[in-house]
Amino acid sequence: MASIFTRIIEREIPADVVYEDDLVIAFRDIAPRAPVHLLVVPKTEAYENVVELAAGDPALLAHVVATARSLAAEHTGGDFRLVFNTGEGAGQSVFHVHAHVLGDRAGLSEGSLGDV
Ligand code: AMP
Repeated sequence: MASIFTRIIEREIPADVVYEDDLVIAFRDIAPRAPVHLLVVPKTEAYENVVELAAGDPALLAHVVATARSLAAEHTGGDFRLVFNTGEGAGQSVFHVHAHVLGDRAGLSEGSLGDV
C-alpha cells in the first residue's frame, strides 16, 4: 500500500505544499512542533529511513539536505534543525524517509529538543 506521503505526492490527500521538484516534495507538518515545521520527502518510497537512503542514494540525501537549506533560507531566516527519526523507538511513524525542517528555536519549549 502506498505510504501517506506517496498519497500526498499523488495528490490523493491534501497538503500545504511549499516546494516540489522531480525528486522531492516539501509541505507543512500537519501537527507542527515548532513555528516553522516542514517535511522534505523524496518522491520515491524505496527508502524507509535516512540510513537506507544514505546507503542507497547518497545524492538524493544530499538533495534533501540542500532543499532543507533553501527552504530554511525562505522560511526561518537561515538557521534550522534537521531531524530524521529512525525507527519506531525514536518516534518514527511514517516509514517513507523524510526530513523534519524545524526553525525558530525561540518558539520551542525551553530546554527541550522540540519533541519531534
Ligand atoms: P515521523 O514521526 O518522524 O515519522 O514523522 C511523521 C510526520 O508526518 C509527523 O510529524 C506527522 O505530524 C506528519 N504527518 C502525518 N500525516 C501528515 C499529513 N497528512 N500531512 C502533513 N504531515 C503529516
